[in-house]
Amino acid sequence: KVKARGGGGYRFYESSMIADVIKRSALERDLRKAIIHEEFSLVYQPIVDANSERAVAMEALIRWNSPEKGLISPIEFIPLTEEIGLIVPIGEWVIAEVCRQIKEWQLSDYKTIPVSINVAQLQLESKVFLTVLSKYIRHYDIEPQLLHIELTESNLMHSISRNDRLLKIVRTMGLTVLLDDFGTGYSSLSYLQRLPIDIVKIDKSFINEINQTNSEELLISDIISIAHRLNKTVIGEGVETLEQLNYLRACGCDAIQGFYFSKPINATEVVKFLEKNN
Ligand code: C2E
Ligand code: MG
Ligand code: MG
Ligand code: MG
Repeated sequence: KVKARGGGGYRFYESSMIADVIKRSALERDLRKAIIHEEFSLVYQPIVDANSERAVAMEALIRWNSPEKGLISPIEFIPLTEEIGLIVPIGEWVIAEVCRQIKEWQLSDYKTIPVSINVAQLQLESKVFLTVLSKYIRHYDIEPQLLHIELTESNLMHSISRNDRLLKIVRTMGLTVLLDDFGTGYSSLSYLQRLPIDIVKIDKSFINEINQTNSEELLISDIISIAHRLNKTVIGEGVETLEQLNYLRACGCDAIQGFYFSKPINATEVVKFLEKNN
């Protein structure tokens, strides 16, 4: 491959590979420290009803506040945590923190709406997943109906029959299951019909196409009507403009998540948002 170029090319390639390995292991070391020192926090992005614009749910999104590097986006560290297994303890922290936060909101008398948690494939596969879920639901004494879990298509298609069984249990526990980034994977409609999924989130890449090309607009309205025919509720994700909102409304999209209504915000700002949008 690149090595065959020989000479300086070889050396350049080799040293950049070493640099990558060093960077990765430094990141891995920092992540292990971050778990111990609890450097993670959650922000929440409201999801509003497409017509009434009332908040109907929100999504919990992790942030890493590194003392050395500042605020780090999940896009920069979640993939590595999935590779090295750290997503399991980090994911457990997310579940615990969401349950704790829901309880805190309830104790301060705010009407609580469901919170969506992103669950990675490795986490779903871990033997402790169901135990962890029920442990924190019980510990914080919250209604399981207030928890939604989000899985991506590629996650779900990984081992369909196993996930099918797991998600049925999750549903029986009272939680709601969402399919995240819908349309970006390879899942066929028959899987979508078979799996115990209640809500699909249409990926931002489809929303971006609205009013850019006519054919893509047709695609998104088809996706919405197919999802509805399969009895799924549809959330449009990454909505930034009124144009996009109006188009989604016209297609019958049920709920909207995106910067147009709110960026991800902290727990205090959530209370203010709910006061205005409930
Ligand atoms: P996701 O689950 O698809 O989450 C939606 C992402 O889109 C969030 O990015 C959100 O801030 C962003 N977003 C929402 N509306 C808009 C919009 O109108 N415009 C733009 N440009 N972006 C918008 P974020 O918070 O950076 O998270 C990125 C990804 O990291 C998430 O994608 C999810 O896959 C992963 N992630 C975040 N938190 C967790 C977590 O607790 N556990 C796991 N396993 N993954 C997580
Ligand atoms: Mg998500
Ligand atoms: Mg998404
Ligand atoms: Mg995504």
